[in-house]
Amino acid sequence: MENYSKRAWTEIDLDAVSYNYRMIKSKLKPQTKVLCVLKADAYGHGAPFLYKEYEKLGADWFGVSSIDEAIQLRKSGASIPILIFGYTPPEMVKELARFNISQSLFSRNYAYKLIEVCKKENVKIKVHIKIDTGMSRIGFFSQTLSDIDNSVKEIIGLIKAQELEFEGIFTHFSVADNSLKEKEYTLKQFDNFIKVTKSLENKGINIPLKHCCNSGGIVNFPQMHLDMVRAGLVLYGLYPSEEMKKKIDLKPVMRLKSVISQIKTIPAGTSIGYGRTFITDKERKVATIPLGYADGYSTAFSNKAQMMVCGKRASILGKVCMDQLMLDVSDIEEATENCEITVFGSEKDEVTVNELSEIAKNINYEMICLIGKRVPRIYYRGNEVKGELSYV
Ligand SMILES: *Cc1c(COP(=O)(O)O)cnc(C)c1O
Repeated sequence: MENYSKRAWTEIDLDAVSYNYRMIKSKLKPQTKVLCVLKADAYGHGAPFLYKEYEKLGADWFGVSSIDEAIQLRKSGASIPILIFGYTPPEMVKELARFNISQSLFSRNYAYKLIEVCKKENVKIKVHIKIDTGMSRIGFFSQTLSDIDNSVKEIIGLIKAQELEFEGIFTHFSVADNSLKEKEYTLKQFDNFIKVTKSLENKGINIPLKHCCNSGGIVNFPQMHLDMVRAGLVLYGLYPSEEMKKKIDLKPVMRLKSVISQIKTIPAGTSIGYGRTFITDKERKVATIPLGYADGYSTAFSNKAQMMVCGKRASILGKVCMDQLMLDVSDIEEATENCEITVFGSEKDEVTVNELSEIAKNINYEMICLIGKRVPRIYYRGNEVKGELSYV
């Protein structure tokens, strides 16, 4: 192993993966199923490798955002059921059937399109009905009593179609991570959802799987777990909100690393980087790092963020370039060329993903999803490399 080039790479901690999975499981009733959300390449952690870990840990389902992600998982060998949360072009129903992938059904028009193509291709597909209880994104709009009646009517008209195998029904929460401030809204979303499911059941429809909880719901609303939960961010050891830290212990899975390519001492009055946004006030020891915004390390960190060099914090000087950036290592005597540095992730006094997303004014989800595809993912259990995923 260790074929990857040590320019910029991520270390994925498989011990943290299993730790987080177990912590999530401990919040659930034994019979509650777990859907592991592997969309966006497992939030940047490498779905074609990580799915195997979750299968070994006992995951029941995988969730992805698109048919391409679903097919990639099947081609990599994933054998458990896969649900696509989002839109699949209707002309691709044959692939849904061929790869045994379940599709979200989110409107009557969309369902008609799918059924039409199923008829033409002579295939049957598995579906989960998506209910919009408060996100106003996709789903049968069900945010008031009259919407709910209407949705139920539409759904009943659809699910008896020969071309569809009705596997489940679900909704998605918009503020479940923020239980203290927004509890009422999540209760309302849940209530809307239960009204839909009850009404369907009263009309004699059997619903095999009901699910609504994302990470926030899993931790904050145990009464809403139903038949299955959909774990995303918490799998990767991050929290959707600060308040959740008190309720579940998680370990961050991803560490981003790079090396020092060159060190130079430059005199006072020297400008650093594009746009000359930093001019030295005194003599400085500057380390160049072969990592830039094309690796997912945003220009928002220019002159702001820090990295760990030999266990000490070093600040970025000047603008982050596409492929490189400069660090102030004036006070870090041990810093040498070729020495490894940690951009974020576990180390003493670590720079966290949250610290960086605050600087970038984005969210921790986004920070990890954005790590570029020329950064290989290296999988560790203990100190041992267990696999690697290179995209370039
Ligand atoms: C992304 C997503 C999830 C997971 O959300 P987290 O907050 O990461 O747990 C669950 N369900 C659906 C429909 C999603 O799109």
